[in-house]
Amino acid sequence: MRAFIFQRATDPSAAVQALAAAASANSPLTEAAVQPLAGGTTLLDLMKLDVMRPATLVDINPLAGNWSTIDFDGGNLKLGALARMSDVAAHPQVRQHYPVIADSLRLAASPQLRNMATLGGNVLQRTRCSYFRDVSYSACNKRHPGSGCAAMEGFNRTHAVLGTSDQCIATYPGDFAQALMALDATVEITAKSGVRTMPFAELHKAPGRSPEIETVLAPGELVSAFTIAGRWPRSLYLKARDRQSYEFALASAAVALDVQDGVVRDGRIALGGVATVPWRVREAEVMLKDQRLDEALAARAADAAFSAAVPRRNNAFKIDLGKRVVARALQQAATMEIRA
Ligand SMILES: Cc1cc2nc3c(=O)[nH]c(=O)nc-3n(C[C@H](O)[C@H](O)[C@H](O)COP(=O)(O)OP(=O)(O)OC[C@H]3O[C@@H](n4cnc5c(N)ncnc54)[C@H](O)[C@@H]3O)c2cc1C
Ligand code: SF4
Repeated sequence: MRAFIFQRATDPSAAVQALAAAASANSPLTEAAVQPLAGGTTLLDLMKLDVMRPATLVDINPLAGNWSTIDFDGGNLKLGALARMSDVAAHPQVRQHYPVIADSLRLAASPQLRNMATLGGNVLQRTRCSYFRDVSYSACNKRHPGSGCAAMEGFNRTHAVLGTSDQCIATYPGDFAQALMALDATVEITAKSGVRTMPFAELHKAPGRSPEIETVLAPGELVSAFTIAGRWPRSLYLKARDRQSYEFALASAAVALDVQDGVVRDGRIALGGVATVPWRVREAEVMLKDQRLDEALAARAADAAFSAAVPRRNNAFKIDLGKRVVARALQQAATMEIRA
């Protein structure tokens, strides 16, 4: 690992000041010149692999007092960005009113990682593309813009079929982000200029011509919280992977349904493991509205969810797998027992 400057922030204002100061000291600014450190379970791995080479790390863990809340007010949920995955997954009100969140966190990584890792770090984790994580491959547009993409003609079994470009086909690896997408969450961002909120769906950027730019966050900006309006007790996360624990998704679906008298009033579906960013499938959702959800409708919605999929040499199986995951998730959500 390369040498770096380590700073510890004492409060949110000090954190964004330190990040901004470190960013300008590292001018011309590169995305990775200064990085906030949360649980460190992704960042330190990538630094040891020499994939990320920040000159400065700003430890934001001292902000946990303000930024690790799990606040359910009876109607809405606010989650601090420094809340640990395991705490949120085990929280009784999250499990009761937002099972899709609890499932997405419980099915991710390992217990040790979940005890350390934070929600903010989770949504901002970087791809597991093996060519990205191995610096002996020179062709990776995400690491070195303009260098090419080793995965395009390489072994691309785990790569994306949705949201890809001719520059990058890396899969977005996280699980929790899909739950946030399905619940129409809002993300709160703290910057030197103040605090702003925006739809979580606008946080990540598909690779397009610039796969090295993964989010709309400016250097020095911090994710501070997530909010979800309403309760979504009829929701779940279904994850298919090569083994039943400690493995990333090959295909997953976060589903949230509002069903009244057997009719779907509102249905949301977000996909994981198959796309370059957390992926909402509104073209499938419109098919559910005001319908009774049966096996045939679930299958049609699953087909629609993958209508834009572009397979590569080794990953075409993800389309059929993904459709089965979506169809099963919808049927399970429609029939799940709801606790009052
Ligand atoms: C073996 C292994 C298996 C895994 N399996 C899964 C899995 O199945 N599903 C899954 O979802 N994840 C999985 N993960 C990923 C794991 O969940 C992430 O490493 C973890 O959630 C990252 O959180 P962290 O707090 O440790 O982030 P860090 O490593 O501290 O940070 C990650 C990135 O986010 C930035 N950052 C962190 N917090 C903030 C913030 N508040 N504002 C702005 N930037 C911030 C950091 O600068 C860094 O760039 C796995 C990881 C490992 C090592
Ligand atoms: S898929 Fe993206 S991350 Fe992977 S090698 Fe290609 S450019 Fe790099």
